[in-house]
Amino acid sequence: MSAIPGSTMNAVVLNQLGAPLSHERVEVPGPGAHQVLVRVEACGLCGIDVGVATGGWPQGLRLPRVLGHETVGRVAALGSGVGDLHEGERVVLPRLAWACGRCEHCLGGFEARCGQRLHAGVDVDGGFADYQLAEAGFALAVPRGVDPLDAACLSCAGAIAYRAVREAGVGPGDVTAVWGVGGIGHLAVQYARMAGASVVAVDCTPDKLAMARDLGARDVVLDTTEDPVEAVARHGGAHQVIFAAPRVEAMSDALRALRRGGRLVVVAVPDAGALELPVADLVRDGISVLGADGANRLDVTRALALHAAGHTRVVHQARSISQVDEAIVELGEHRAPARLVFEMR
Ligand SMILES: [Zn+2]
Ligand SMILES: [Zn+2]
Repeated sequence: MSAIPGSTMNAVVLNQLGAPLSHERVEVPGPGAHQVLVRVEACGLCGIDVGVATGGWPQGLRLPRVLGHETVGRVAALGSGVGDLHEGERVVLPRLAWACGRCEHCLGGFEARCGQRLHAGVDVDGGFADYQLAEAGFALAVPRGVDPLDAACLSCAGAIAYRAVREAGVGPGDVTAVWGVGGIGHLAVQYARMAGASVVAVDCTPDKLAMARDLGARDVVLDTTEDPVEAVARHGGAHQVIFAAPRVEAMSDALRALRRGGRLVVVAVPDAGALELPVADLVRDGISVLGADGANRLDVTRALALHAAGHTRVVHQARSISQVDEAIVELGEHRAPARLVFEMR
């Protein structure tokens, strides 16, 4: 199981912005102090990977880079000074690969906003490879009994959905609309329901709405045949909207679906575009618009713990890493049937 230093591994590398991904053999990295080397079992595909791979997410990207940031795997080698992990232990490596621990965001309990943070697949190499290096403190143990592919999805999609539901302030008796029930949205439906809300799911795909119903949504709205604002109004309007759809043009509907004092929490990275804010309405009705910018380690461990306790279902489709290029096109065109997860072997 241990990697031989100096040996090579398969990796999916972006060498140049806009260039096709390159399937290469690269050297297996050795863990430095307080780092672990993880043998990747699987890594999920996220909208951010699509942005990076297609050149639409160049902020801070250092090339060449191994993509992927929803990794699950087993610890293969420990660097010096790592005390709380052991070889063979299953961990997830979330998108947040490192945070400083000292800035106001870290100290304030929101390390995902750290000004010096490092993201896997952008600032440091990610999980579309046989091995991934990680800071030991950011390799999070997977509870016993949790399926590794589920764990991969929960490390990003689950954690950000959980964070969004927390940010939205969802509580018992609220009406929460979830816009877009894909990889993030289908988990947001479950967390909102767990928080005691009546969930209204809005999507343009009947299959995804059937899944949302199955996962506990009280009402579902196909927004290609029905006005979603009117549909949500039948429930008195939404206290919160979790916006997890990739279509920015749907966001103004989401805003209008809120009742007074409502919150729109945006989680997906929408297509480039801007939301026109009706300022007078916003002020008159006390509306908030929030961006859920990232998940903290605690969000990841909570998502894993809730899953281990049987409270969530993760809907995903497994693919081989050799299919990554097709999958990126599929997700980029919003055709992916569920969260896509690549198995490394
Ligand atoms: Zn992600
Ligand atoms: Zn910090």
